[in-house]
Amino acid sequence: MDESAVGGLRADFTVLHEASLVDRPAALQDALSGAKALIVRNRTQVTADLLSHAPKLRVVGRLGVGLDNIDLATCAARGIAVCPATGANAIAVAEYVVGMTLRLLRWQAYGATARVLSGDWPRNDCIGGDANGRMMGLLGFGAIAQAVAIRAKALGMAVAAYDPYVEPGNAAWQGVVNLDLPALLAQADVLSLHVPLNDSTRHMIDAAAMQGMKDTAILINTARGGIVDERALATALTDGGLAGAALDVFETEPVSAESAAHLRDAPRLILTPHIAGVTGESNVLVSQVTADNVRRALTAEAGPR
Ligand code: NAD
Repeated sequence: MDESAVGGLRADFTVLHEASLVDRPAALQDALSGAKALIVRNRTQVTADLLSHAPKLRVVGRLGVGLDNIDLATCAARGIAVCPATGANAIAVAEYVVGMTLRLLRWQAYGATARVLSGDWPRNDCIGGDANGRMMGLLGFGAIAQAVAIRAKALGMAVAAYDPYVEPGNAAWQGVVNLDLPALLAQADVLSLHVPLNDSTRHMIDAAAMQGMKDTAILINTARGGIVDERALATALTDGGLAGAALDVFETEPVSAESAAHLRDAPRLILTPHIAGVTGESNVLVSQVTADNVRRALTAEAGPR
């Protein structure tokens, strides 16, 4: 968490800021015995068991958006508020999606350094594709997908999305084609995933979904690992069923040996360590939004004097 946001909290509360607690479960349990608030990123698993060590807890602040690491049912039953930093890292993720789109469309050119230094001059091999005129398909059309849509339009891309929970009358749909899932899969040149991980989205992009996509399409997953079947993705890339992919999130993080064995030899695949939403700027904003959320929850909890 950004130090200046921690400092703001220290002015009014007793704060233990200890990033290593995520890897020291016993120390975390101890620290929670008197805590009214807990602030986590995505690695700390806020399970019913962990919550049972926090009898005074009133609020969980999440330095990010996805809540799949938090037992929401137990929090609700105990009246513990759960506060994501909604929208605070949307621009960072959206810029990552744009970057990966451009990188993957000109795969050979951006990867040519070693060949150029060796005296090779592989111009024909390095002819890639324009983003302009291609379709950016968005699975989920919430805060991050809408930030991607704005940037994709600026590149001259057509934009389409599938999200049955965003009302057709919502202004965000302006200039964005509202498609059902099979049509989105069939028409997207770039498919970027922006849904939460839950029972309805787990393995939503499996072998059958990939078969419904263009062979020339690119897949970008910054949402959650469990949404893409990693083994099916490796097969699709190897067999030419997809033209490229970027994964920032994985079924297991860090990547399990089993997943690595599937993904290692897949061509035109970029892997990053769950970092799409984290830039210097977004970290400051996410930390500040989370500190404000926690402060508000603790103040509201105190009630009228
Ligand atoms: P959001 O809540 O604003 O948007 C999610 C959208 O998904 C909502 O509009 C919802 O209606 C839609 N949705 C839910 N289930 C769906 C389904 N079955 N089919 C179609 N649409 C569905 O969230 P957001 O801020 O846009 O973030 C999206 C996800 O990105 C988060 O849940 C989080 O897991 C992930 N994320 C990753 C990083 C990173 O660093 N890689 C950073 C931030 C967020």
